[in-house]
Amino acid sequence: MKKVIIIGGGLGGLFTGAILAKEGFVVTVLEKNSTIGGGLQTFKRFGESFDTGMHVIGGMQPGGCIRKICSYLGIMDKVEIKDVDDDCSDYLYFAEDRASYRIGKGKDLFYQSLVRYFPEDAADIKQYINAVFALTDQIDLLNLRPSNGIMNLFAYSDDYLLSADGFIAKYVKNKKLASVLAYLNPLYGGRGNQTPAYIHAIISTLYINGTTRFVGGSNHFANLLRDVIIENGGHVLTNDGVEWIEVNNRHVEFVRTVKGEMHIADYYISDIHPCSLFKLVPEKTFPKPFRKRLNELPNAYSAFSVFIKLKERSFPYINHTEYYMTTYDDIWKFGRTDTQWPLGFLFMTPPERNQGKSANKAIITAPMSFEEVREWEATRWGHRTKDYEVWKERKADELLHLVEEIHPDFHNCILGVNTASPLTIRDFYGVKEGTLCGFSKDYNNIVASQVPVVTKIENLLLTGQNNNLHGFCGVPLTAINTCEAILGINYIINKINACVPD
Ligand SMILES: Cc1cc2nc3c(=O)[nH]c(=O)nc-3n(C[C@H](O)[C@H](O)[C@H](O)COP(=O)(O)OP(=O)(O)OC[C@H]3O[C@@H](n4cnc5c(N)ncnc54)[C@H](O)[C@@H]3O)c2cc1C
Repeated sequence: MKKVIIIGGGLGGLFTGAILAKEGFVVTVLEKNSTIGGGLQTFKRFGESFDTGMHVIGGMQPGGCIRKICSYLGIMDKVEIKDVDDDCSDYLYFAEDRASYRIGKGKDLFYQSLVRYFPEDAADIKQYINAVFALTDQIDLLNLRPSNGIMNLFAYSDDYLLSADGFIAKYVKNKKLASVLAYLNPLYGGRGNQTPAYIHAIISTLYINGTTRFVGGSNHFANLLRDVIIENGGHVLTNDGVEWIEVNNRHVEFVRTVKGEMHIADYYISDIHPCSLFKLVPEKTFPKPFRKRLNELPNAYSAFSVFIKLKERSFPYINHTEYYMTTYDDIWKFGRTDTQWPLGFLFMTPPERNQGKSANKAIITAPMSFEEVREWEATRWGHRTKDYEVWKERKADELLHLVEEIHPDFHNCILGVNTASPLTIRDFYGVKEGTLCGFSKDYNNIVASQVPVVTKIENLLLTGQNNNLHGFCGVPLTAINTCEAILGINYIINKINACVPD
């Protein structure tokens, strides 16, 4: 009955907590916000519930890795999700030539949908699909295969060590097609000649296999994980962040919250951004070169979101995401300050329970650099300045104007608009520069952008998006790593595989 304190009740903290609680640990999650979930949080406006950061999810198709973890946790039958359309899982629009592409779900439909637009490149498309699946097949954790836990770059194929854009270019000669194949890159903070090929491959194959949406708000999933912790004797405490972690002789003694509560445990697990963690511990806890490396490591870019309440029965429910892209050549330039803004955005209508033909709400998410809001970085939520509010309104108008290109007269469907900027994400998630996915990964030095889940402090571990892959399909896999650092290598993987798949 060992005790575990988890700092941060986001996706990573809750998955790690649920697994350890199921394995007999007494888990206490400490969350600074009034609601748990981090990226799974929702908020209410105009009588609607809006997801803040979990709009499209991978790994939940039958046989999918995250679905298997949910089955092991005993929550799969309670998860409310909806698959996107088979014949059009994503819709792309390029403003440059006003061309649109409907991308099909599954290897075969994905191939057929692309061949329809690029018949002369059929052989390249086939080669690319085979290569992208072969690349992900090398990753044991993604396939929930037991491993020796050591990342040996020499054991991977040459493709693994390429950049994402270099990998696509290796298999596809047609530049327009190469840009279309890169359309998901805003979802993983993609950067040209930097993002590793394996990140592109993981996200692309998960999405080709089929994506899913939470029905009625992503927070219900956070609540399911919370329930696993509580049903197994644990606690999930909100509205009281950790403000200090006492460390002596490479051992955490206790944590103290803002309200002055002290918590003592056998293990402490941090689900917060490592650079935020550095501010909560004595300076000598982590070696200076380690702190310097992580403080200087670039983070993936942030985003600007517009949450829209639609007039009743004015706009259809669309069962897939729409991607607006400006030009083919700029596909790898999201989040940069030397390009126009917006370079593109995602448009979606999140599903409700008993979803009908019309949508009640829509969300626009456009990648944005933190530099855009740097002048207001000293302000906090609820205390921003008037010029910031004016700036937000202008940015929202720019996005809404572009939506008209794919949905003429969209402005007539709008009842109310709410916005979130990189500052909002920074303040609500507690992440550096409002990053969408944590530390940016670089193929030039794959190891430098990996953060191990174990630390030099014997009873302090890390979890969450900054250790490895971000998002709904990455963070739960890192949770397995974190738990196995306590329970032993392959312990959880074997248990997950022993569960009868649904
Ligand atoms: C706008 C946006 C859209 C996104 N869309 C998608 C998507 O469609 N699909 C997808 O898979 N991924 C998406 N992501 C990424 C996904 O949300 C993240 O990768 C994921 O939520 C990260 O989980 P985490 O546990 O590492 O961190 P978080 O979920 O951020 O959790 C960290 C938690 O720690 C808490 N915290 C911080 N400091 C303290 C403290 N001192 N004490 C106590 N608690 C603290 C925070 O409040 C937060 O709850 C999106 C992200 C953003 C920002």
